[in-house]
Amino acid sequence: MKLYFLIALFITITLSLTGCTRSETKGETAMSENQLSSDSLDNQEVINRTDEEWQKILTPEQFYVLRKKGTERPYTGKYDQHFEEGIYFCAGCGTELFKSETKFDAGCGWPSFYQPSSESTIKYEEDTSLMMRRTEVLCSKCGGHLGHVFNDGPNPTGLRYCINSVSLNFVKKEGQKIK
Ligand code: FE
Repeated sequence: MKLYFLIALFITITLSLTGCTRSETKGETAMSENQLSSDSLDNQEVINRTDEEWQKILTPEQFYVLRKKGTERPYTGKYDQHFEEGIYFCAGCGTELFKSETKFDAGCGWPSFYQPSSESTIKYEEDTSLMMRRTEVLCSKCGGHLGHVFNDGPNPTGLRYCINSVSLNFVKKEGQKIK
């Protein structure tokens, strides 16, 4: 009777351990599948072009700002004092970046927004050029340089996305509806 009990106990422990191992393995498999799909999605969405290829698509000014991290002269950009309702798209790849509702006049000479349309279409990099520590803002799809983000913006985010007009293409709200 005692032996029967021990055998039953052994079988129970073995089964429960196998169960744990299986569920862990399943969890790991699910995670790697997710990572794979996320990786492949990223690879699919990212645009990689050589400078020569970009030069054929972009104007010299767009190439200088988007691909060489240049900055347009303040108060000269076409969207600095532009407040029509619509959407601002990446001039490099056409991704939606900012909505007119989030645009404000910061008086700094560049189009300013307090938040991007979506965090997934923007990426950030530390920029220590010009003896300053700034946060660079780039298009996550084509890697194009857009501008910088600062902590002196208005509510509700307190952020100021200081963006080059050259990096943007604006489409009016009515234009969106026709499409
Ligand atoms: Fe882009």
